[in-house]
Amino acid sequence: LGLRLEVVNPQDEIGRLATTFNDTLERLEDAFRRVKQFTGDVSHELRTPLTILRGETEVGLRWAREPEEFRELFRSNLEEINRMSKIIEALLEISRAEEGGLKLELTPIDLGDLLGELVQQSRLIDQEKGLKITFTAEESVTIRGDWLRLRQVFMNLLGNAVAYTPAGGEVSVVLNTSGGFARVMVIDSGVGIPADDLPHIFERFYRVDKARNRNDGGCGLGLSLAWTLTEAHGGKIEVVSELNKGSVFTVYLPLHPSA
Ligand code: ADP
Repeated sequence: LGLRLEVVNPQDEIGRLATTFNDTLERLEDAFRRVKQFTGDVSHELRTPLTILRGETEVGLRWAREPEEFRELFRSNLEEINRMSKIIEALLEISRAEEGGLKLELTPIDLGDLLGELVQQSRLIDQEKGLKITFTAEESVTIRGDWLRLRQVFMNLLGNAVAYTPAGGEVSVVLNTSGGFARVMVIDSGVGIPADDLPHIFERFYRVDKARNRNDGGCGLGLSLAWTLTEAHGGKIEVVSELNKGSVFTVYLPLHPSA
């Protein structure tokens, strides 16, 4: 909008009013910018798989003759469809949470069980890189939470740790408690995150290396979703990272949630 009130004397009543007005305008403009950016991002993210789907289907219809060729086409189409579903599911979940409409199914959750199972699974998934993936439960910790949502949080963090750590590296998960919170650290010895990018990695669609991630199946929503779901539990996520050394993502979840 570019519109601003001139502040003659910031101390008097008119001046304070004008300052407040200008600040509000600034925030509004910021919100507009974010909505615009977001709409653009969503359109872009969905257009890419759609373009691939259309191209492959057209070529397939024209040239495929053998059943195996059609099967290959379906397989590839399914991949893109799954990709779009994942994006839409994640966005829905995030916007539900932002509107306060996310209904958590709270049950007692033994975090050691949940994390142990996930670590086991990521060992199965990562077989070619041969990462050393460990889990240490320093205490037995039970909280009230939504099993599926928390599983999603840790799956995303662990998935990233594995994805962004080169062969021969290490990923470790440590569980303990700290000041009324369950604390889960996901530590990797991977590529790390540049300091300039660090403040942005929880934003929707944000990726440090845009080219690399498309092939890895990442769409830049994993951390955003993890953040939102953790917040919905009354918790928070912190990150420290050093380029080419590795990253530590720490999740705090209240031991005694008030809700
Ligand atoms: P993506 O689907 O691209 O992995 P995320 O939201 O999960 O999206 O992560 C956002 C970006 O943060 C990633 O694209 C990557 O650049 C960076 N990132 C996340 N986790 C790590 C990690 N453990 N090590 C290095 N970079 C990471």
